[in-house]
Amino acid sequence: MKLVLLGPPGAGKGTQSVRLAQHFAIPQISTGDILRKAVKDKTKLGSLAKKYMDSGTLVPDEVVIGIIRERIIEPDCKNGYILDGFPRTIAQAEALDEMLERIGTQVDHVVNISVGDKEIIKRLAGRRTCISCGAGYHILFDPPKQEGVCDRCGGKLIQRDDDKEETIRARLKVYQQQTEPLIAYYKGKHLLHSIPGEGNMEEIFSAILEALGEKSPKAGS
Ligand code: AMP
Repeated sequence: MKLVLLGPPGAGKGTQSVRLAQHFAIPQISTGDILRKAVKDKTKLGSLAKKYMDSGTLVPDEVVIGIIRERIIEPDCKNGYILDGFPRTIAQAEALDEMLERIGTQVDHVVNISVGDKEIIKRLAGRRTCISCGAGYHILFDPPKQEGVCDRCGGKLIQRDDDKEETIRARLKVYQQQTEPLIAYYKGKHLLHSIPGEGNMEEIFSAILEALGEKSPKAGS
């Protein structure tokens, strides 16, 4: 199963792709996570990517295409993978098609999670992450017991630099201009499933499974 998750920043791609990866027992590949780790580790890739990420713009296509090209040939990808945050431009989608075509395969499904702009700003501006263990919180929807402190490990909770309101607006603009055209691209290939992303996390997960022709974990219980 080779699955692409599309959707604006804050649509819940990360959450749903982790669940889907567990369900299908295949890896979740998030270009955002790979780039954030590179920034944290202060690698060459990280220092290149940081200025784009901090301003909410996209890291150049050739850089992320190179990351994916190397990642999908790892042994854990042999039964498929969930791509979370890639492709984000038509050029990336075409490069992915080419990579897969060369090895005689293709993307199986594309799931687009749709959420309105107002909801996205509310979600992203309240998002907090533990600097030590990476656990995620939301100041309104999933607050920690003690403000600013991780329930799991006691680490400090921080806001991602690119989750500040000004950068969120820039990211949304970039999404509309560069990523949204992928909806038509994959619709044209008859691979697209559009799922409303404003309900409860479990319901959205079930809707995705249903669109993929899978049985929801709740069905039959
Ligand atoms: P995300 O965690 O997916 O929201 O990604 C965070 C940031 O990483 C984005 O705002 C971009 O700067 C960069 N990034 C992640 N994936 C890509 C991609 N496929 N193409 C270009 N830039 C990306």
